[in-house]
Amino acid sequence: MITQKSVQEILDTVKVEEVIQDFVNLRRRGVNLIGLCPFHNEKTPSFNVSPSKNIFKCFGCGKGGDAVQFLIEHEHFTFAEALLYIAKKYNIEVEETVVSQEAMAEKQHFESLYIVNQFAADFYQEQLFETDRGKSIGKSYFKERGFRDETIRHFGLGFAPNQSDALTTKAVGMGYNVEFLRSVGLTTQYDRDFFRDRVIFPIHNLSGKIIAFAGRILVKDVKAPKYINSPETEIYNKSKTLYGAFFAKRAIRQEDECILVEGYTDVISLHQSGIENVVASSGTSLTVEQARLIRRYTPNVKILYDGDFAGIKAALRGVDILLEQDLNVRIVLLPDGEDPDSYLQQAGVEAFKTYISQTAQDFIAFKADLLMKEAGNDPVKKAHVIKDIIGSIAKIPDPIKRMVYVRECSRIAQVSEQVLVNEMNKLVMQQVNKAVAEKGMPPPTPGELEAAGITQREPVDTKPPETFTAGDEFQEKDIVRILVVGGSEWLDEAEQVSVAQYIVSNIEEVLDHFDNALYGRIAREVWALVVAKKPVTQQFFLQHEDPDIKNFALSALTSPYEYSENWEKKWDIHLRWQKSPETNFEDDSRQALVRFKMRKIEKVLTENRQKIKELSDAGEHEQVLAYMKVLQKLLVMRSELAAQTGAVVLK
Ligand SMILES: [Zn+2]
Repeated sequence: MITQKSVQEILDTVKVEEVIQDFVNLRRRGVNLIGLCPFHNEKTPSFNVSPSKNIFKCFGCGKGGDAVQFLIEHEHFTFAEALLYIAKKYNIEVEETVVSQEAMAEKQHFESLYIVNQFAADFYQEQLFETDRGKSIGKSYFKERGFRDETIRHFGLGFAPNQSDALTTKAVGMGYNVEFLRSVGLTTQYDRDFFRDRVIFPIHNLSGKIIAFAGRILVKDVKAPKYINSPETEIYNKSKTLYGAFFAKRAIRQEDECILVEGYTDVISLHQSGIENVVASSGTSLTVEQARLIRRYTPNVKILYDGDFAGIKAALRGVDILLEQDLNVRIVLLPDGEDPDSYLQQAGVEAFKTYISQTAQDFIAFKADLLMKEAGNDPVKKAHVIKDIIGSIAKIPDPIKRMVYVRECSRIAQVSEQVLVNEMNKLVMQQVNKAVAEKGMPPPTPGELEAAGITQREPVDTKPPETFTAGDEFQEKDIVRILVVGGSEWLDEAEQVSVAQYIVSNIEEVLDHFDNALYGRIAREVWALVVAKKPVTQQFFLQHEDPDIKNFALSALTSPYEYSENWEKKWDIHLRWQKSPETNFEDDSRQALVRFKMRKIEKVLTENRQKIKELSDAGEHEQVLAYMKVLQKLLVMRSELAAQTGAVVLK
């Protein structure tokens, strides 16, 4: 038992943000810090830490408390374990009263399992450093990989001897309960050692406790698998574990990037060379939990592949999991025949670093490049590849990012962007509908839908959204698109004028004169809403009973903004981190409106001139005069508008 005095000292010393930062990537926002909640899955941070109050609170799932509470919830610590963790972190000397026999017996079941694992790790390490076989086989293997002794000790590497029950016998002899050895998978049901004659890689959880082992065989044995892992146990869930995460987490946060490799030795090699933000998926294909684990520390992942085509193609499939978790994925293809470990040794640290930073390629571009090359000129193969890539892009939750990738894909595959957008919208809608169906009722909130980049609940017909052509209808589309995407935004918040109010009050007189019937219908619906003082929301259009309006809204909300030349320029330069043009409603509304009116005036002018010609041919001079007056007025309006447009070029 920890004395009351020590407990008090620990609680007085601890800073909640410093404890939580060991596990969660926090950013400052005002006086508080925020991050992605580790207790529920989220993509926008609602996890708040208040240094002044010394507490945390998640506004998404409601979890909250102090640093001790955090450790109990997050690490499944007991109260005492949480206190000891903090004491260790702050170098506080802990006074403990003598532990009673009873308390000993009650000691956490999990703790016993960790202890047994630690015992085994120490045993394996002793075998590696102290026995002949350990040295000649195990140690020489690690030395061959260039591992220094301190690296071997840092990662707790070891060697399991070539005897049927060396570990089990030793452990039982030391008083360890064989049940615990079986529980962690170190001892088989026949009381034999699980790992024999293999080098050993302990696997740690995020707080550094050993939860499992991996063993690699070194002698040639065709029957034995090269690697074996501890079975899944109460403390080891393979799909939630990334090898090296405990050693890498600090560096991952610092570098704001996680390097993903395949092998244990790759992790250790890179780490030893000072590249510490590296983890391995331990030979399994990536899981959602692993992706979420990375996402807690950084949104950026760089995957290192060795240059073997078949292997890469297989591995690419796993990457969609990362995209789904909103991670930015970059790929580094190592030179032919090299793995990260071997290439690092061959090239040296500096050359290695330069290589990975210079050849890192965005995942979608990488995949498109690779597969298009393979497909060559075969149109069927090519179509298949495009579907595959669009499938990956559709997994990305952020609609702006999706559009950037569609553009990239369109460039590489030489296919029109609109075709790809249509294809992708279908897939995105399928995913949203599937997610809604899986979650059951109630349907997702507008916020969740917005986060998904879409705002629609009902299944959408499979017919592709309307395709648009620039031309006479372009300005109409422009106006209507702004109404759908940003109608409810404030154009002037002080005056309480919304974008929708501003636009419809300016186009009232031409509401019945839209060339495109659909756009006219939408404009009139917005006008009706504004007159009725109802909000003009995206949902209104996305849930519209008219499928054409619904599809237009879907397309408008997921397609790139086409009209702004300014945005076009930005798009190519900063694309990824730019604020979306949809948020710049004020400028866009005014400009679109001017262009729209210009177009309408041009049209009326043409009609007017035509009419004047007809009437004058027919000798109707009085009427000609009336139309001439209208013409005058139109010309004045046009020049006023032209003055407003500035850069807008008239056709
Ligand atoms: Zn939460």
